[in-house]
Amino acid sequence: MDCIFCKIISGDIPSYKVYEDKDFLAFLDINPLNPGHTLVIPKKHYRWVLDVAQFKNYWQAAGLVAQKLKQNLKAESINFVTLGYEVEHAHIHVIPRFKNDDLGSTIDWSKHKKISADKMEKIMKEVRGGVF
Ligand code: 5GP
Ligand code: ZN
Repeated sequence: MDCIFCKIISGDIPSYKVYEDKDFLAFLDINPLNPGHTLVIPKKHYRWVLDVAQFKNYWQAAGLVAQKLKQNLKAESINFVTLGYEVEHAHIHVIPRFKNDDLGSTIDWSKHKKISADKMEKIMKEVRGGVF
């Protein structure tokens, strides 16, 4: 199947991985709204978040990632968003929010931030917190 996220899972496309277990993978969004903006995906291809068989475990994994973002990036709060119209492989956006970030209370999706590869690497390591 021609799916970008399946290719990330297989390693054919590189990614900044921040969390992995046997069923789920989390990596930095290439077009982040904030530093640490992460996508959590099931390793098996499902079209929608609601289709994921281990739905509860899926959200638990997203929760774990959120805790890492909160603690390791000192985020003020965390937003969980699922849209899924651009990439047809289920993904949960886990977005750390910081005081005075410019996203607003409804999230302005046009406000992507340019973050260099070096910085993405650094953020990835920070989120991992020395584990994994
Ligand atoms: P949605 O489908 O929820 O609208 O958004 C898909 C998200 O996937 C976007 O935020 C986009 O930046 C991200 N994305 C698309 N292609 C890639 C990719 O190849 N690598 C990474 N890390 N993120 C991607
Ligand atoms: Zn896929």
